[in-house]
Amino acid sequence: MTDRFTWFDALIVALCILAFFLSLFFFPRGEIAESLPSDGDFIKWVEFHVPAAAMTKAYKLSVSSAEDVSSQIDWVDLLAYCAAKDGGTFKNGWVSRMESVASELRAGKSIDSLTAEMEYFGYYQKAYAAVLGGFVGDFWEDAGNDALEKKYGLYAYSPIAAGYGFSHYEDFGNSRSFGYRRRHLGNDLLASVGTPVVAIEGGYVEEIGWNRYGGWRIGIRSFDRKRYWYYAHMRKNHPYHLSLSQGDIVYPGQVIGYVGMTGYSDQENVNGMQKPHLHLGLQLIFDESQKEGNGEIWVDVYSIVEFLQRNQMKTRKDEETKDYNALVKIYPVTWNAEPEP
Ligand SMILES: [Zn+2]
Repeated sequence: MTDRFTWFDALIVALCILAFFLSLFFFPRGEIAESLPSDGDFIKWVEFHVPAAAMTKAYKLSVSSAEDVSSQIDWVDLLAYCAAKDGGTFKNGWVSRMESVASELRAGKSIDSLTAEMEYFGYYQKAYAAVLGGFVGDFWEDAGNDALEKKYGLYAYSPIAAGYGFSHYEDFGNSRSFGYRRRHLGNDLLASVGTPVVAIEGGYVEEIGWNRYGGWRIGIRSFDRKRYWYYAHMRKNHPYHLSLSQGDIVYPGQVIGYVGMTGYSDQENVNGMQKPHLHLGLQLIFDESQKEGNGEIWVDVYSIVEFLQRNQMKTRKDEETKDYNALVKIYPVTWNAEPEP
């Protein structure tokens, strides 16, 4: 009797120890998770159907209000206001709605007072700020003459460098079949092999290297950690700008790599695509638990690519390294870092 009790006791202790080590194994991400709140109260799903025309209009209204800081209009507020009125569809009537809310804001009313009765404004404001949070604001520009100029406006860039053509269509959610059936969680930009690919937004290089689907791919996490920009199928042999490695800081508009057709192969450096193109994806991360797994939120970037056509980075080839470099260096102020001299 005493022997059996001791054996059972020991078993319980052993199970507790095992459970403790298993928990360490399954939740090892404390360091990263600290950077975003994880109390369960975060956005779980976002669909982004804002047309490029609405982004353009909101942006113009925001910039035209920018000289007077006291009445500066946040373009995300304008878009969230319109979305809260029609469930984020932007089907009809958004133009006059946006104009009228902009004139109320210019007249001195606060966005809080104008949206106090709107049930979903808060949701859209948070969701759209997550998508577009790294696009518009104060930034420094260094055009290569060591004279930093402070500006206000759009500092996100088209992923395709200036002077290079591309075509794309609305292909988000289309079905795909490599390995297993899955939806197409991005936008394919058809362009020539070697076309310089530019970082839409600044951030940190989180993933760089081979992936059996994306081929040579690079993933950049925004400075506020809410966005993960995924660029895939980069060029065989020389996929990325040679200066880049994991953990590096990338500036908006910096050349990160080149269009290619790699991927769909377990073997590295294989051209598995039928046509050269850049696969561009955008994942939103409100909580670190959403980075990988069932909680992933990928949004449609088609209209974002359209909108960013107005801001293309000029590049120049370095004949020695064969890499292309941006002619302008951009330092967003929201990044909270002083530009290097
Ligand atoms: Zn794709």
